[in-house]
Amino acid sequence: MGMLSITHDMSVVAQVADLVVVMYAGHVVETGIAREIFEQPLHPYTRGLLECAPRLDSEPRTRLRSIPGTVPAPRAYPSHCRYADRCPHADAECRAGPIPLRTVGNRKVRCIKVKP
Ligand code: SF4
Repeated sequence: MGMLSITHDMSVVAQVADLVVVMYAGHVVETGIAREIFEQPLHPYTRGLLECAPRLDSEPRTRLRSIPGTVPAPRAYPSHCRYADRCPHADAECRAGPIPLRTVGNRKVRCIKVKP
């Protein structure tokens, strides 16, 4: 039996998933084995999602982190990296054209800054 769970809550994902597919603006940006993604997220959006999760070891009244900006509207998806307007690592190379989903070890990642 298989189960598909769709959520923004990475703590739920950590408890129920063996395989993870992270999507942003209609694109798969990272896929892989859940344990590996949680231990070493590769795509900046995956890292951002994990940093937004509340932590038991945080100081009281610590504000939750968030990813600045908003998701582009579907009719306004750019032809280059769809995460570029929110990514802290974006540069001209990221805006030069479509970013393919590439194999990195036993994962697939859609980011030109992650080297295979
Ligand atoms: S391709 Fe560039 S903008 Fe897109 S996620 Fe990677 S570093 Fe960020």
